[in-house]
Amino acid sequence: MSLADPKSVKVNITTGTGVDIEWKDGHKSHYAFQWLRDACPCATCSEERTTDGRKPGDPIKQAASLLPMYKPKLRPESANPVGKYAIHFKWNDGHESGIYSWDYLREHCRCSECHTPAATDKIQ
Ligand SMILES: [Zn+2]
Ligand SMILES: [Zn+2]
Repeated sequence: MSLADPKSVKVNITTGTGVDIEWKDGHKSHYAFQWLRDACPCATCSEERTTDGRKPGDPIKQAASLLPMYKPKLRPESANPVGKYAIHFKWNDGHESGIYSWDYLREHCRCSECHTPAATDKIQ
């Protein structure tokens, strides 16, 4: 697989809409902050996803008996590039272990062109 390389990266912390990446090949990707948090590539989150049988970005299943709690809308407190290959988020829920490589993000592009639910289901 070719190395993903962004031309521009926009992290919309103030508006809370997510991350917009335009790639060198002209492709554009958008990632919601909640999706990014649920797709955290760190060892702990990957393990939790494997245990729950979730794919990267799938929301954590909550027990139906639990009352919904008011939580501040998830967003990063800061976002910083890691070398030339990745981006790091410090989330407002205190988590900050995940390093999101451009490869990882491009692989999980959310656009309708790249993300067809049928194709993803087949892999499982
Ligand atoms: Zn994590
Ligand atoms: Zn795409």
